[in-house]
Amino acid sequence: MASITLSNVGKVYAGGTRAIGDVNLEIADGEFIVLVGPSGCGKSTLLRMIAGLESITDGEVRIGDRVVNQVEPADRDIAMVFQNYALYPHMSVRQNLAYGLKNRRTPKAEIERRVAEAAEILQIGPYLDRKPRALSGGQRQRVAMGRAIVREPAAFLFDEPLSNLDAKLRVAMRLEIKQLQQRLGTTSIYVTHDQLEAMTLADRLVVLSAGRVEQIGTPLEVYRRP
Ligand code: ADP
Ligand code: ADP
Repeated sequence: MASITLSNVGKVYAGGTRAIGDVNLEIADGEFIVLVGPSGCGKSTLLRMIAGLESITDGEVRIGDRVVNQVEPADRDIAMVFQNYALYPHMSVRQNLAYGLKNRRTPKAEIERRVAEAAEILQIGPYLDRKPRALSGGQRQRVAMGRAIVREPAAFLFDEPLSNLDAKLRVAMRLEIKQLQQRLGTTSIYVTHDQLEAMTLADRLVVLSAGRVEQIGTPLEVYRRP
């Protein structure tokens, strides 16, 4: 686990669009932050900069005590869960879970231990030998979360992970993510459009507007009507 600190962070895309203004944010060890705001306000850009998937134009991002601006994504010690699952279609669930660890030369017994643990937490044990195409959307998203968990990262980044699921499944998965959070306590940043997800999951909400932090506080503080 690790704290995450953004200091005067900004992003200008090639072409000149300023997507992020001057963002300052201190996320404590183990804190669950939900990023909300209208479409185009910069949520995804901010998350991708922390993940190392976009370059950082201004300022500094720290994960723990490391400045990560120039650190390769593989060395950032974060795991991201995407809306579209991003599973390898030709691999079984087990292989999807193990692949990143194998690349890092994690010992086989350790890989097996972590895969078994993730399978237990996410209840995907019965599907370990299936290919992603033989799974439902909810099962695929569990596998995507499993792939993040096995890395045992310092932080999780979630980019609208439930947006592709139907309403009923979204409710169930929201509660599963809550339980996951209570069990693992890993520092998390979660982007969503869904107010119920935000209220259920957030220790603190960060409301972005036009690339800047407009409001920050607990769900009660942010959603309370004046
Ligand atoms: P959100 O996730 O809140 O919908 P984004 O981070 O996707 O917002 O976008 C923030 C702003 O940056 C928008 O104005 C968007 O059009 C722009 N933008 C996003 N991605 C790119 C890109 N690859 N190139 C140029 N502009 C981009
Ligand atoms: P895998 O994609 O199966 O995890 P690797 O671990 O070799 O394979 O990762 C390849 C690249 O993708 C690395 O830069 C790694 O940091 C990044 N990466 C892999 N999985 C994630 C994830 N869940 N979230 C963020 N980055 C990831």
